[in-house]
Amino acid sequence: MKPNLQSSNLLVPSESALTQAGKVALTFLEDTGLAERNQAVQVFRHMAQIAAERGHELSNIEFETVALKAIVAANAVKGASAWMSPLWKQLEDRQESWGPGLRATAIHMGYRFTPKLRKLHGSPAKYQLTAEPVEMDPGDLHPTPTPDGGIRYTPAAVAAPGAVISAGLRGGVVRHTLPLVASTSAFLSVAILLLLFSAWWMVVTGLHTNSPLSTAHVSYAAMWCVASWTVWGLFKFMSQLADLGIVMAPEFLVPFKEDHVTLELQPKDGDRKGAFAFVRYTATCPQCQGRVLLHDGGEEFKDRIVGRCGNSPREHVFSFDQKLHIGHSMRG
Ligand SMILES: [Zn+2]
Repeated sequence: MKPNLQSSNLLVPSESALTQAGKVALTFLEDTGLAERNQAVQVFRHMAQIAAERGHELSNIEFETVALKAIVAANAVKGASAWMSPLWKQLEDRQESWGPGLRATAIHMGYRFTPKLRKLHGSPAKYQLTAEPVEMDPGDLHPTPTPDGGIRYTPAAVAAPGAVISAGLRGGVVRHTLPLVASTSAFLSVAILLLLFSAWWMVVTGLHTNSPLSTAHVSYAAMWCVASWTVWGLFKFMSQLADLGIVMAPEFLVPFKEDHVTLELQPKDGDRKGAFAFVRYTATCPQCQGRVLLHDGGEEFKDRIVGRCGNSPREHVFSFDQKLHIGHSMRG
């Protein structure tokens, strides 16, 4: 970085674009609990920190790989470029999936800029953090206030299943919903037909043979029950998603470590194509400052998704509004 500083205590009339972008990044990382996650996030966080502190006197934050490595991973054995290259790849993917969350954070803070990371190819390569203006919709100028004693959720998309095979899925948003819906429906229909046919076959052969009930019969029946249960679960999940637009993603659909993830059906909107998005919402508990994550409402809050605080999951419970991203306390 080329600091080009005179004094870090300069007074400025209003916060510069870069300062805003830096503060938005820091707040977003803090709210989503991503701040300490890994070295890629630490690179972003470090650049955001400097943007927040010195944004009033710089037009962008610029680092060479060697300098970043010295700050974030001084003891790493790898050379600077070998160390940075996988981290940069991660950051590029994350940048896309963090977009809506960064935007929501900026609007909530009353800011007009979000951070944007760029790589300038050359020798040596340089990494830049710049400020990008937020495109405002009319509704953004008067965001719904956080309710008294309630919370505001910050969204962050997570990698969709299959992200390892297809780079397009790493942003957590699966576009072109129609082929996916069609193939899933076709798969479900075939599965249901197969189950009906096998049930019919079991009944018919059962009636024809007079042999006593054997272990094989029992295991066939058990296998049939497990298959039916799975197909029923998938069917219920698909119809809930279609009806309500959001469900807690079933565990088989998300990487193990990305828990508490919702699967949303984002409708077609003007030029924007419909999409499935895997999103993790987080909020800070107003009662104890713990982290609130989403859960299925279970028996008590049937057909609802609720936010539960990690410190007191049974008592610090909040509603979840999928449109406004706010929640009220559900314990009076
Ligand atoms: Zn709490």
